[in-house]
Amino acid sequence: ETIGDNLDRTAAAYPDREALVDVPSGRRWTYARLRADSDTLALGLLGLGLTKGDRVGIWAPNLPEWTLLQYATAKIGAILVNINPAYRTHELKFVLNQAGITVLVSASSFKTSNYEQMIDEVRGDCPRLRSVVVIGSARWERLSTRDGDRALVARAQAALSPDDPINIQYTSGTTGFPKGATLSHHSILNNGYFVGRLCGYTVEDRVCIPVPFYHCFGMVMGNLACTATGCTMVIPAQGFDAEATLRAVAQERCTSLYGVPTMFIAELHHPEFDSYDLSSLRTGIMAGAPCPVEVLKQVIDRMGMTEVTICYGMTETSPVSTQTRVDDSLRRRVSTVGRVHPHLEVKIIDPDTGLTVPRGEPGELCTRGYSVMLGYWGEPDRTAEAIDSARWMHTGDLAVMDDDGYVNITGRIKDMVIRGGENIYPREIEEFLHTHPDIVDAQVIGVPDITYGEELCVWVMLRDGAEELTAAKVREFAAGRLAHYKIPRYVVVVDAFPMTVTGKVRKVEMREKSIELLD
Ligand code: ATP
Ligand code: MG
Repeated sequence: ETIGDNLDRTAAAYPDREALVDVPSGRRWTYARLRADSDTLALGLLGLGLTKGDRVGIWAPNLPEWTLLQYATAKIGAILVNINPAYRTHELKFVLNQAGITVLVSASSFKTSNYEQMIDEVRGDCPRLRSVVVIGSARWERLSTRDGDRALVARAQAALSPDDPINIQYTSGTTGFPKGATLSHHSILNNGYFVGRLCGYTVEDRVCIPVPFYHCFGMVMGNLACTATGCTMVIPAQGFDAEATLRAVAQERCTSLYGVPTMFIAELHHPEFDSYDLSSLRTGIMAGAPCPVEVLKQVIDRMGMTEVTICYGMTETSPVSTQTRVDDSLRRRVSTVGRVHPHLEVKIIDPDTGLTVPRGEPGELCTRGYSVMLGYWGEPDRTAEAIDSARWMHTGDLAVMDDDGYVNITGRIKDMVIRGGENIYPREIEEFLHTHPDIVDAQVIGVPDITYGEELCVWVMLRDGAEELTAAKVREFAAGRLAHYKIPRYVVVVDAFPMTVTGKVRKVEMREKSIELLD
């Protein structure tokens, strides 16, 4: 089944159920209308001369048109290229050329950036780019209301194979410059389907999606999981906004809420938190970055997400590889990222020898199965570095698997700090610091040191009104509870961490800034 076929089947089964709600504009789509509008837009795309395999870029925040384009391109087999709304001209030009985008759909502006102006600036350097269509413009209206022979869309759709590439998603760029993971209908549709199954979704569920559509968290675990099950996608705002999210959950009676840990932290600490009725929440997904135990407990206790699941995955693997199950014990949900997903394989290897390590020992997590990308677009060398000849994807993440198959992510190989020959996993120290009454969030990094090679530096965000936190105070708090070499030598108090749009902390940037600060 292709993504278009899947939408058609859901629309035939539940034509009158709500598919999509855009809270900011108040617009709503039933499944019948979502299908009809996607077909109309698909016809418009055919009218632009697009065919199977052509690349269509989408550079926009979370607008319902994003979702329509996602289904319309899937119907004609054009490869949708997700472009991060935070990109600026340098990155935009890179992606347009790297993916060979011929048609770009964009918003006119987002937050303070004028997209149309940025596109004008780079256009001369992007010879493959033929058309730009701005959502909401007269051109967009024509494209998305085109009359014509629907049989053309059906014919294009029938010519597709589930194994065709349908999407290029750039990684978050947490550890360096983003890479374009090329994914098939089969890989992302199945992944969305199983994510929905493991969340226990039925047509009654209403899923609040504050995570970006350009990222797999939004478009696969969100949109595709919903259409595969017939539940409702709720868009709280164009970009992440803690209060808008709380409001959308309350107004739309959402049963499920998504987020990376930093988003849940922002919601839980919002001054208006108590004025929103979140009692409709049952489940949700926390993923994308390590989840502090304290935060998960609060999500369960204060947000009522008793069945919240934790997912682990990466863009290159559609994304999800492991997930906790609804009936997993609280202990497992707060301390692991669950077990391997149906029909996938996970193993933990010694990165130096490539051999699988015994259960309980740390190593690099590798995964194999339908979810593994076709490759990095246009980068066969980087693909070969990531996927070995037996089709195992090497994730670069450090993990431990217990005897029952539960996986614990202990960090990224790139973030591990080696201090005086001792391997230190920042995650462990971050968890510990979360138990400090004044610390809202903590991120530990390694900075160069003459004596030890690397020293630990922690960036902390403090509760409002908290006293200044010094390195001496942190030492006092940790003394007797953490091994001496794990106690951060430097403490930097900040209001915010450098983030990717997906809400992940950019430790690379923190490392560079710390070096300047400590110099
Ligand atoms: P880049 O590859 O460009 O550096 P990125 O790896 O952050 O960026 P994504 O594909 O968005 O890009 O993120 C996947 C990564 O996120 C995983 O490899 C892992 O390090 C981290 N991650 C995802 N889920 C979890 C989780 N539940 N717990 C801990 N880490 C997670
Ligand atoms: Mg990555």
